[in-house]
Amino acid sequence: MQGVDINLKADTLTNVALNLIKTAATCLPDDVKEALQKAYKKETSKTGKTQLETILKNIELAEKQQTPICQDTGTITFYVKAGAQANNLDKIEPALVKAVRQATDQVPLRPNAVNPFTLKNSGDNTGQHMPQMHWEIVSGDNVDITVTLKGGGSENVSALAMLNPADGVNGLKRFVVDAVVKAGAQPCPPTILGVAVGGGADVAMALAKRALLRPLDEANPDPQLARLEPELLAALNKTGIGPMGLGGDTTVLGVHVDYAARHPASFPVAVAFSCWCDRRASARINAKDEVTYLSNTKRGSNT
Ligand code: SF4
Repeated sequence: MQGVDINLKADTLTNVALNLIKTAATCLPDDVKEALQKAYKKETSKTGKTQLETILKNIELAEKQQTPICQDTGTITFYVKAGAQANNLDKIEPALVKAVRQATDQVPLRPNAVNPFTLKNSGDNTGQHMPQMHWEIVSGDNVDITVTLKGGGSENVSALAMLNPADGVNGLKRFVVDAVVKAGAQPCPPTILGVAVGGGADVAMALAKRALLRPLDEANPDPQLARLEPELLAALNKTGIGPMGLGGDTTVLGVHVDYAARHPASFPVAVAFSCWCDRRASARINAKDEVTYLSNTKRGSNT
């Protein structure tokens, strides 16, 4: 089919991505703030409550002053859903890279892109495979862009296991609980967990990370997984690790589970952690070059 020229202008793409990075760095999505507020009200540990209070004040100040919520502004990942009828899709990647460079300077972001061999920091958050890009081609002519800023503390406790298929769902549950206990305070709890099973090692981890994009107030559409998620959440919050690992009832704010078909002999399980500072923001560019910001506030806004 002939593509529709939706005028994917490089400048629009860069401006939208820049706004998304700024928003994600300084303002948490409403669902995360609401989950933290609820946890604060319910927390029975005095120390845990104090930690949650500090986190909430931190969020409020960052939003008011338009400064980064955390000193580690993370690594930047884009998830792009590109309408198959849109033209100029090749403009997207360079425009997003440009936005990362501008955001590093303007927000500002901590330069977090280091060559593992030369140890050279690029200084602008770009480098080999950075920012990371995940593409999905969908029908229509909209382009949806989501950005996440993921801190090193939560990334460092990511866990992957190739379980024995005989371990089944009970083995999966044990592995998730062990991963959270082992992680302790390192991922700055309360965390959000993306859990994925099947596919293969790479697919499981990619799905686990993508599962973190689902808002905390959205139920899993799969009835079996919708039952498993609160069960895991309740078990994880019995660990007593608590806010910032200092003890309490709130270790995890939410568990999001996804899966892929697996090889009969393989049972990969991946756990991706997000710290409480769960930074993500999304926007849609439509065929008329109009932009709608889709997240961080339920109100949404058009430009
Ligand atoms: S894990 Fe999250 S909250 Fe903790 S230092 Fe890193 S970015 Fe900040």
